[in-house]
Amino acid sequence: MDEKRMQNPWVRRSVLVVDDEAFNRQILGDILNQDYEVIYAKNGEEALSQIHTLKERLSLVLLDLIMPVKDGFEVLNDLYSEGLLSQIPVIVLTAEKSAEIKSLQMGAADFLSKPYDSPEVIMARVNHAIKLFEDSNIIRATERDALTGLYTKEFFFEYGHQFDQYHPELAMDAVVINFNHFHLLNELYGRAFGDKVLCTVADGIRDIISGSCGIACRYDADTFYLYVAHQTDTNQLPDYILSCLSKILEAPQMRIRMGLYSDSYRATPLEERFDRALQACKSIRNQHSIAVAVYDMDMHEKEVYKAKLLEEFESAIENKNFKVLYQPKYNIAGEEPVLCGAEALVCWEHPEFGRMRPSLFIPLFEENGLVQKLDRYVWREVASQMKKWRDENNVTIPISVNVSRVDIYDPGIAEFLLGLMNEYGIDTSDYLLEITESAYTDNSKQIVDVVNKLRAEGFRVEMDDFGSGYSSLNMLTTLPIDALKLDMEFIQNIAVNHKDLRMVELVLEIADFLGVPVVAEGVETAEQHELLRKAGCSVIQGFYFSKPISAEEFGRLIVWERSAD
Ligand code: C2E
Ligand code: MG
Ligand code: MG
Repeated sequence: MDEKRMQNPWVRRSVLVVDDEAFNRQILGDILNQDYEVIYAKNGEEALSQIHTLKERLSLVLLDLIMPVKDGFEVLNDLYSEGLLSQIPVIVLTAEKSAEIKSLQMGAADFLSKPYDSPEVIMARVNHAIKLFEDSNIIRATERDALTGLYTKEFFFEYGHQFDQYHPELAMDAVVINFNHFHLLNELYGRAFGDKVLCTVADGIRDIISGSCGIACRYDADTFYLYVAHQTDTNQLPDYILSCLSKILEAPQMRIRMGLYSDSYRATPLEERFDRALQACKSIRNQHSIAVAVYDMDMHEKEVYKAKLLEEFESAIENKNFKVLYQPKYNIAGEEPVLCGAEALVCWEHPEFGRMRPSLFIPLFEENGLVQKLDRYVWREVASQMKKWRDENNVTIPISVNVSRVDIYDPGIAEFLLGLMNEYGIDTSDYLLEITESAYTDNSKQIVDVVNKLRAEGFRVEMDDFGSGYSSLNMLTTLPIDALKLDMEFIQNIAVNHKDLRMVELVLEIADFLGVPVVAEGVETAEQHELLRKAGCSVIQGFYFSKPISAEEFGRLIVWERSAD
């Protein structure tokens, strides 16, 4: 085993010296003091009480055998029966040969004979006992990462725990360092170069921790974990690493980000502190200008809030707390606008937070797949509502539902939707599916297959949020869709910015050429409405006509519109 690790200077261990004679305590204390924090007890009872309170950070007990109140054998006995002997090694102090053997049989790690040998011998035996004991705990973990020579994550955490035991008083930071787009470096310059970059980072990290108290590991591929003394200047660490990297890389090619979690009181378990640092690090994944994020109360509150929403999801479905609102769509091609459908939008009637808009929970449910269950629930609600309107008013009006990109990977999606259509007697052509533009760029083949299948069954598919992602109009020549929904941001400035208007006009011209109708959403003003109408947009959805409304209100609107015809 690596001698250096044992002697790591920032781990100062504690040793309990138990002897009823002050003189003996003094001798041992003086010898051990240089390398250890020494704690004393003057009889067996005191010793046990110290061990119980300090057991997390005691490295060794030196135990006299003959003492008043409670002797050493009784202490050994108690420790054995409480299972504590497997946590803390004990060296007994005795003048009798027979007692040496008996105590070893009772589980002592070693003995020191009185009168004591030279200080060097005592020190060597104490060091040896502690090292043997710690190594046996650590031996399971493979120590070093083969590429960088930093600790492996298993060893890192083992060592971190030890550090916490011995130094509960030090303020420590959990730090996670990661690269933006490391795989690109590998792809562009080859794996060997990628490895060189990782080794250079590791060297930089080693410099940093050798100057302060700390340990580091390569957690995986391009992620490094550091457990270091509290940083007041959080930029120092990434700046130093970047300066090391600048020897082999040009500045624009590298971007590292760092997440940090400080906890002076160690109130949170070590692994969780690193989870939080990782969270902070991930929170700046897409931000190019920010390199450091500190996990703070804000992030903590968001975590708690997210966890709460996730926990409540099932019961919210059961209690029907998810409600579907309908936002009317109007056809504006003729003289008068005509109601031609609606978009179904889910919201959460939350008992504590009130009505929550989908942007507050859909992204969260997309992360863990719950959105599939929610969408199926919404789709069923919509189908059943359409049947109700038809039964009550004898009218069918097309409704569009949102399909998350996660649903595209659900192999049962077409069967489920067809089942609903059958169950509620709805024509597939009246049930529109809105799929966000970015789903098309995620995995084009998968989505084209799914969309083809759905369209073959008669469903109409609209591309939602067009213009928010990266797809080009060119894609429309190969993509099977029935309508384009222009992203709200496109519309927002058409009345004030001529370039924006020109852009929308161009999209409308090309879409017209390709025979794809365009729906403009987020239309808020009469001016926007007029400009879009003139540019040839046929369908409009937005606050100008109506906000999303309840099923009852929309039902009344259908009846009113029909009677006005
Ligand atoms: P989206 O599908 O693009 O829906 C349009 C959003 O624009 C809705 O927001 C709507 O309330 C809002 N909006 C409509 N007109 C205007 C306007 O004139 N001005 C402004 N400022 N906003 C307008 P909402 O309800 O917050 O929904 C946000 C997004 O959540 C939706 O965007 C959709 O992507 C998603 N979503 C909603 N319901 C569902 C659902 O049942 N399943 C899934 N997977 N996603 C849903
Ligand atoms: Mg939509
Ligand atoms: Mg949209």
